[in-house]
Amino acid sequence: MVGGGPAGLATALTLHSHNIPSIVIDNHTENAVKLGESLAPSANAVFRKLGLEGVLTSGQHSLYVGNNVVWGDSSLRQRYFLHEPYGDGWHLNRSLFEKQLRETVISHGIPLLQNYRLSEITARDDKMIVSCSHSDAAPYTITADFIADCSGRASIVAKKMGIKKQTVDNLASYYFIAEPAANPLKGMTFIEAAADGWWYAAPIANNRIIVNFMSDSDLHPAKTASLTDWLLRKVAATEHLKTYISTTAIPTAGIKTATTSLLEKPGGKQWIAVGDALCTYDPLTSFGITNALVSGHHAANAIASFLQGNTGALSDYITSQMALFNKSVALLQNQYQSEQRWPEHPFWERRRV
Ligand SMILES: Cc1cc2nc3c(=O)[nH]c(=O)nc-3n(C[C@H](O)[C@H](O)[C@H](O)COP(=O)(O)OP(=O)(O)OC[C@H]3O[C@@H](n4cnc5c(N)ncnc54)[C@H](O)[C@@H]3O)c2cc1C
Repeated sequence: MVGGGPAGLATALTLHSHNIPSIVIDNHTENAVKLGESLAPSANAVFRKLGLEGVLTSGQHSLYVGNNVVWGDSSLRQRYFLHEPYGDGWHLNRSLFEKQLRETVISHGIPLLQNYRLSEITARDDKMIVSCSHSDAAPYTITADFIADCSGRASIVAKKMGIKKQTVDNLASYYFIAEPAANPLKGMTFIEAAADGWWYAAPIANNRIIVNFMSDSDLHPAKTASLTDWLLRKVAATEHLKTYISTTAIPTAGIKTATTSLLEKPGGKQWIAVGDALCTYDPLTSFGITNALVSGHHAANAIASFLQGNTGALSDYITSQMALFNKSVALLQNQYQSEQRWPEHPFWERRRV
């Protein structure tokens, strides 16, 4: 596995259940910010399949009981997960969550090469030679029968094979971390549509709130220097969000790409793409982490079947991942359609069918 995020670790755990030895290489550094903390109720099923329920109930993550939504008109609606077949979702402490997954993988005896970066792949005698580099240690070479590209948006294996990505939009997250105001989120994720995008806020560790303004990057000049001021002015113009967050001190703010994208060719003779490396979902779906875990599980089952001689296993996996992606894009279009207040603004105009 190239990449040790949710997709790479779920792939490794499932391969382990098939008694297939594997190695994970990952270049993630502890201080790098990963966005995404709302885990939809449907995720509970894959945690059970992967034997990871204990991660969620470890006391480090909090229950996600529903959404506060301002969409379609200016009224605030509360949608609880009461009637969801899977129960409530979770608000993750994201960095701790990934640490727990890494520890689980290591506890199964699966080698995890941390702080190693894929530098080169070459094919030799039906094997893939994977060269990795480390800033402070000697390079490492792995001879593999198969590679899973689990490198997230980098899709680094596919990239090295010259495969391009189709990008559906220019969505970006302009984010900051804030303190709660008098009006608490109480286990809810908050979503509010705006003239040029939409807001997303969710509780995170240490009684903080992560706030994302989601909009198309080409609609705003790159304004990193004054990003905080720009965001604070935009928060002040909201009808509801401003009542949930205190904006007196904003220690962390940044911009991250959040485009919806799909690899033109998500696999080959001895490799497949998994999770974000294969396709990325609009954060409005809250599906990215669940998809990474589910696709890791399915990819590993497909690899196991392929290694046993089932030549169609990989293409079946790719077909099902593509079908899921297309279904999600169609559902998302409906969701964007249901907001008609700013039809002339390019952000909403682009999202009309
Ligand atoms: C703004 C925003 C908000 C989001 N909110 C949510 C949310 O609320 N809920 C949700 O479910 N999802 C959300 N997501 C999506 C979610 O975070 C991703 O879908 C998820 O992290 C995908 O997991 P992954 O394992 O495929 O990729 P990643 O988590 O990106 O992991 C990939 C790993 O590969 C490593 N890697 C990359 N290149 C190399 C290399 N050359 N060598 C070695 N290692 C490498 C990286 O360091 C990383 O650790 C959000 C995304 C964005 C952008």
